[in-house]
Amino acid sequence: MNTEHRIVILGAGYTGMLTAVRLARRTRRLPVRITLVNPSDRFIERLRMHQIAAGQELADHRIPEMLDGTGVEFVRGWVTSVDPEARLVTVDGDRVLPYDELVYALGSATDTDKVPGVAEHAWTLNDPRTAHRFAGRLAAVAAQGGSVAVCGGGLTGIEAAAEIAERHPGLRVTLISTGEPGAMMGERARVYLHRALDRLAITRATGQSVTKVLPDAVELADGTLVPADLTLWTAGVRVSPLAARAGIETDERGLIVVDPTLKSVSHPAIRAIGDAAAVRQAWGTIHGTCQSGMPTAAYTADAIAKELRGKRVRPFRFGYFHQPVSLGRRDAVIQFTNADDTPRRFHLTGRAAALYKETVSSTPPMAFRLSKRMTVAVQLSRGGRSTRTKD
Ligand SMILES: Cc1cc2nc3c(=O)[nH]c(=O)nc-3n(C[C@H](O)[C@H](O)[C@H](O)COP(=O)(O)OP(=O)(O)OC[C@H]3O[C@@H](n4cnc5c(N)ncnc54)[C@H](O)[C@@H]3O)c2cc1C
Repeated sequence: MNTEHRIVILGAGYTGMLTAVRLARRTRRLPVRITLVNPSDRFIERLRMHQIAAGQELADHRIPEMLDGTGVEFVRGWVTSVDPEARLVTVDGDRVLPYDELVYALGSATDTDKVPGVAEHAWTLNDPRTAHRFAGRLAAVAAQGGSVAVCGGGLTGIEAAAEIAERHPGLRVTLISTGEPGAMMGERARVYLHRALDRLAITRATGQSVTKVLPDAVELADGTLVPADLTLWTAGVRVSPLAARAGIETDERGLIVVDPTLKSVSHPAIRAIGDAAAVRQAWGTIHGTCQSGMPTAAYTADAIAKELRGKRVRPFRFGYFHQPVSLGRRDAVIQFTNADDTPRRFHLTGRAAALYKETVSSTPPMAFRLSKRMTVAVQLSRGGRSTRTKD
C-alpha cells in the first residue's frame, strides 16, 4: 500500500514553481512525494517576454537546477487530461500520474482565436521561441524603416510597444487599443505614461476595436487600415480547456472556481492558483497577475503543509499594491494602488521607477532560490494579510 501523500503540481510558471519549492521545504519531515509537470525544462519569465520580443537575451533558468536539493520530481511533458474522479493526470497522452492532491497552475495565454487573422498573421508573447523569432523579424523590418503594430493597450501592450520603440528607433510603432492606454492608472501617472510614449514616437490608435489582422495591416472597426509589416497581439486572455473538460467547476472564462482556501468548489482535492483560478475577495475578483499569483502559490504550499499536520487553515486574503509598467530599459511608471487595484495618489517615475520595476521582475527567481531555505514573504499589499506564517 502506498503511504506517501502524492501531490502533483501542474505547470511550472511563477505559481507552480513557488508552490513546489515552498511545499518541499514545509513538508520536508512528512511522507510526501511532490511532482511538478511542465512542457519545457526552461523556466519562462513571462514578465520579461516583451524584452525577448524586442531582441534582448534573458538569463537561462533551468527547472531541474532550480529544484535541485528539494526532492521534487520534475516530469517534462504536456498535461493532456485530468480525471478528478479517479485522481489521475495524463501527460503526453500516455504517462499516467496518480495523485492524492492536485495543484492546478496552468496559467493563461494571449487569445488568438476571437479576432480573424490573429492566429495567421499576428505574433504573440505566448512562448519564448516565438518571441525570439519575432525579434529576428523585427530587426530586419527596423533595418528598412518599416512599421509594427502592437494591439492591446493593457500593461503588456504598453510595455511591448515601449521596449520595441526604444530598441529600434527607426521603426514606426503604433499602439492600437479599444480603451485609452493606462486607463487603469491615476491621472498624473497616465500623463507621464503618454509623455513617455510621445518621447518614444509611438503613435496611438485608440477608441476602436480591431476587426481583422491582415498580412500587412490591421483593420479597425471604422474600416481604417493601420499599415504594419509586423503585428504583435497582446489583447485578450484564454486559459487551458483541461479543467472544464474534466468537469471541474469553472467560470465563464474557464477559470477554476475556488473556495476561500483556494480549493476547487467541485473537487476539493484540487487546488487552483495563479491565472488559472477565479479567486474572490471581499473587494471583488482577482485578475491574473504575478503580483496576485505568487501569494496564491505561497498560501497553497502553506495550507497543504498545515492540513497535513492537522492544523486549521485561514481563508486566503489579498489586495493589490502597485501597477508597475516598464517604458523601455531606462524609464517606467509605477502606480500604487488600493487593494482592489484602483489608483492611489502616489506614483513613481523615471530611473527610480525603472529600478523598482526591474526589482519586481527579478524577485520571483530569487524567491524560488530563497524558499529552499526559508519562508519568504511574497505579498506586499496591506489590503491583504501576509502569507508569511511560522514553521
Ligand atoms: C509580457 C508580460 C508582462 C507581464 N508583466 C507583469 C507584471 O509586471 N506584473 C504582474 O504581476 N504580472 C505581469 N504579467 C502577468 C504574469 O506573467 C502572469 O500573471 C503570471 O505569469 C501567472 O503565473 P502562473 O503561474 O499562473 O502562469 P504562467 O506563468 O503562465 O505558468 C503556467 C505554466 O503552465 C504551463 N502549462 C500550460 N499548459 C500546460 C499543460 N497542458 N501541461 C503542462 N504545462 C502546461 C506553461 O508552460 C507554464 O510554464 C505579465 C505578462 C506578460 C505576458
